[in-house]
Amino acid sequence: MIIPECVRERAVRLADALPAYVYDLSALDNHAAAVRRALPGIEIYYAVKANPDPALLHVLAPYADGFEVSSSGEVAHVRSVLPDARLALGGPGKTDAELALDVHRMHIESPGELRRLIDVGGPVDALLRVNLDVPVQGASLAMGGGATPFGMDPVGISECLELVRGQNRVRLRGFHAHLASGLHAPELLDLAKAVLSFSRELSATEINLGGGMAVSYHDPEERFDWDAYGQGLAGVRQPGETLRIEPGRALTAYCGWYLTRVIDVKRVHGEVFAVVTGGTHHLRTPVAKGHDQPFAVLPTGRPGSGVTDEPVTVAGQLCTPKDVLARQVVTSVNVGDIVVFGMAGAYAWTISHHDFLMHPKPGFHYLT
Ligand SMILES: *Cc1c(COP(=O)(O)O)cnc(C)c1O
Repeated sequence: MIIPECVRERAVRLADALPAYVYDLSALDNHAAAVRRALPGIEIYYAVKANPDPALLHVLAPYADGFEVSSSGEVAHVRSVLPDARLALGGPGKTDAELALDVHRMHIESPGELRRLIDVGGPVDALLRVNLDVPVQGASLAMGGGATPFGMDPVGISECLELVRGQNRVRLRGFHAHLASGLHAPELLDLAKAVLSFSRELSATEINLGGGMAVSYHDPEERFDWDAYGQGLAGVRQPGETLRIEPGRALTAYCGWYLTRVIDVKRVHGEVFAVVTGGTHHLRTPVAKGHDQPFAVLPTGRPGSGVTDEPVTVAGQLCTPKDVLARQVVTSVNVGDIVVFGMAGAYAWTISHHDFLMHPKPGFHYLT
């Protein structure tokens, strides 16, 4: 994969202080600006669970109309970093304490949750999260399109519409949908159309179409077509409607880099393994998603101590066969080389099991 010069330079400077995460904040700034330009008139909320790092939130703030959060912890965190940010609180298991929080939008997941919200929360503006029975083929994760714990089918929606009548603590503003992730612009636009026609039949004028824009770990240079998505949404939007999206992964995946160093290169029953400092307890993404994390090797190590152009499995320091970052990728690698993993800016550090085996934590560095 292509390593930007600034990341390469920093990797070499940090060679004796690895593993480390490096965030390229100016790349993130450029990317967020391009996404913002591609979607005129569409509100963008950043899905904080993708990466809540305060430095990233600060970079995204000028381009985001708000932030999608999923717990009281994320609410408190974003408030501490960006006190004036608009927050939309979602998630399938909100406690009464979470329902009592004062946020810009509450995303209601079930009739039972709405009953509790009417009892303990409000006044609050809310969207009903709908799970439509629409095909989500090609998705890497499906939150909708069938039986899942997320949102409500049309029967649940009708029940909610009954519940909101004759009370004023919960003001219904419209609908929310986050049906699938890993979709390209045409498929995501098809889902948007299904959600819009459902919402319009019920006279809603505020619709959150969710996130889930595809990223390719197999081909890091392939990017979600934000321009096509923006043009598609502009084509279906009707006057007076507020349309909102809440991307996570496709905003921050590319700005993060996980840097490690090769401790050992060995051949076991014919297969070559490079064991690096750190591992999936810092970057669980490839195990969680079942892919090879894209990487490049910087030849800073001891020549002749490894292999040349052979399939290599890159493993971490954990005492479990699951601690694999990439499997049988053809590369040259020596002991002491730096391995730079890309696409480590979303669902990376914060989804990982940091304390397992008690290895040291990585450093965090920010390129501006
Ligand atoms: C996780 C999540 C998102 C972001 O999804 P990405 O695939 O990271 O774009 C958006 N909305 C909801 C409700 C989510 O749970």
